[in-house]
Amino acid sequence: MASSMAFADCSTSAPTRTFLFSRLRPCRGLPSIPPHLLRGLPVAGFRLPSLRITNSPSSFPKGNAFLRNKQGFRHFRPFTVLASVSASEAAISTEASAMVIDGKSIAKEIRHEITTEISRMKDEIGVIPGLAVILVGDRKDSTTYVRNKKKACESVGIKSYEVCLPEDSTEEEVLKFISGFNDDPEVHGILVQLPLPSHMNEQNILNAVSIEKDVDGFHPLNIGRLAMRGREPLFVPCTPKGCIELLHRCNIDIKGKQAVVIGRSNIVGMPAALLLLREDATVSIVHSRTKNPEEITSQADIIIAAVGQPNMVRGSWIKPGAVIIDVGINPVEDATSPRGYRLVGDVCYEEACKIASAVTPVPGGVGPMTIAMLLSNTLSSAKRMHNFQ
Ligand code: NAP
Repeated sequence: MASSMAFADCSTSAPTRTFLFSRLRPCRGLPSIPPHLLRGLPVAGFRLPSLRITNSPSSFPKGNAFLRNKQGFRHFRPFTVLASVSASEAAISTEASAMVIDGKSIAKEIRHEITTEISRMKDEIGVIPGLAVILVGDRKDSTTYVRNKKKACESVGIKSYEVCLPEDSTEEEVLKFISGFNDDPEVHGILVQLPLPSHMNEQNILNAVSIEKDVDGFHPLNIGRLAMRGREPLFVPCTPKGCIELLHRCNIDIKGKQAVVIGRSNIVGMPAALLLLREDATVSIVHSRTKNPEEITSQADIIIAAVGQPNMVRGSWIKPGAVIIDVGINPVEDATSPRGYRLVGDVCYEEACKIASAVTPVPGGVGPMTIAMLLSNTLSSAKRMHNFQ
């Protein structure tokens, strides 16, 4: 049965092109290559060598191949289809060598570990971790994030408490709920969904969250401790923590490496840079006023891109063999998608795959790790409060 497969290039305005080919699909829900074509390939390693078949018009389109290695990581590799593909004659030439860092399966593994710990905690001391989420207004993206967080809590056994306030609520009303959750012994983490409506002072609100329940890690005391040598924050912001966890779980060395963070926001770029520094990387930060970003990033062994500019980091910005963590989530117009748009990162994925040694996809890279780290912070908080090892 023929299946369709989409791929995107780095032009944000270009629609996603789709082509048909047959018999190329095993990894659950994702297209891949028929087993006979994989015979002899080192699937346990990170390389997918070229597959070539004759009579191949060079104008055939490109696509992506998925493989699962023995550790269960799924690798995602662009390739070119060089001939019409059938079960017996297929032609695929790998153009990229980067390992794809599969954030989705790593996050799943972490969620599984959290579930096990929560059930041990419940059995041994009868405590169930609780996370309270406060949402003000009805922004579609925020509502979706909150819904996903609630689902994720349920999936690991964390009890979630949700407060949804109307857009025109006062700051005092929000502070009253925060104060209630601060005093509630069944709540171990409090999260205020950002952004808040413009009439509210975000600083006042985030400062009101008890530092012991600040699972987002945005409290100035937690950030301050993160920045200081010899001090330990109670919580580290989830997205940057997820980036570092991806590097650890993929056995990527950080110590002594040149790392560049693109972006310096309080929630991603700045804490990511501080975390890399704590891991003994030599860290540079690129921001909107940096004059020569490409010159700086092309020296980096590790790049964390958190900008919010689709496909900003091109192949020429990347040192061969660098590791790329792409935090960006940018919707770009795509008439072929049922939603009318698709998500791309801050890094031109197709080009990065050919130059980097490892790269996170968007979606499916850093995103799933953010929620996994939130669950992890909530569990740590409950363990700390109940002195449970
Ligand atoms: P933000 O608050 O808007 O910060 C963006 C940063 O990028 C700023 O520091 C800005 O510099 C810098 N920047 C903007 N344009 C630049 C340019 N042309 N060259 C170099 N630097 C530039 O964004 P954010 O909240 O950090 O988020 C960044 C991206 O990550 C967004 O796409 C967001 O959707 C995504 N995100 C993903 C997750 C996830 O879970 N995967 C979580 C959070 C955010 P200045 O400081 O000089 O203005």
